[in-house]
Amino acid sequence: MSPKTTGKSKKKHNFVTMDANLKLRNRVNEEFTEYLTLHKHRKTPERFAILDHIYSTKGHFDIDSLYKSMVEMNFRVSRATLYNTIDLLLDCGLVVKHQFGGNVSTYERSYGNENHSHLICTSCGEVWEMKNDDLLTPSQLKKIRRFTVNYYSMYIYGICSKCAHAKRMELRRLEREGSKEK
Ligand SMILES: [Zn+2]
Ligand SMILES: [Zn+2]
Repeated sequence: MSPKTTGKSKKKHNFVTMDANLKLRNRVNEEFTEYLTLHKHRKTPERFAILDHIYSTKGHFDIDSLYKSMVEMNFRVSRATLYNTIDLLLDCGLVVKHQFGGNVSTYERSYGNENHSHLICTSCGEVWEMKNDDLLTPSQLKKIRRFTVNYYSMYIYGICSKCAHAKRMELRRLEREGSKEK
C-alpha cells in the first residue's frame, strides 16, 4: 500500500498548533520536575506521561474519561496511579479541580486555556465554556499586587434553554391534565 498523500495543507496547519503545544508541554514538564524535586517525590515516567497526556488534549475530564483516553492511546496505567498523580498535579497547580455540582470531580489543565467561565445548568448538569477575555481589564489585573495571575474562571449557575423548555412543557401538560379533572 502506498502512503496517503492527501491532506498536505492540513498537516502543515497541525504542525503549527503542535509547535505551540510542544512549548507548553515542555514548560509544564519543567514545572512538574521542579515541584517533584522540591517535595522529594519520585519522578516516575508514568507521572510525566499522565501530565503530557493531559496537556495534549483539551477540555474537562474526570478520572474515568482520562483512564479511557489513555488506554485508547495504548498507555496502561492503574487508576491508583492516576489518582495519585492528579493529586500531585492539583497540589502544584498544573491541574484545577471543578465542582460543577455532580458527584464526579471534573478536572481541567490550568495553563494554555484561555480565560473562560463555566455555565452550569443546575437541572441537567451540563457545562458550557464561555470565553471571558474582558472580565478583568488589564488595569484591574495590574491592581492585583504581589500575585501572578495564571488564569481565572467564574461559575455561572442557571437553567439551560433545553431544561427551561422541558419545564414549561411539563407545566403546560400538568395544567391541561388539571383542567380535564375538573
Ligand atoms: Zn439543562
Ligand atoms: Zn473549563
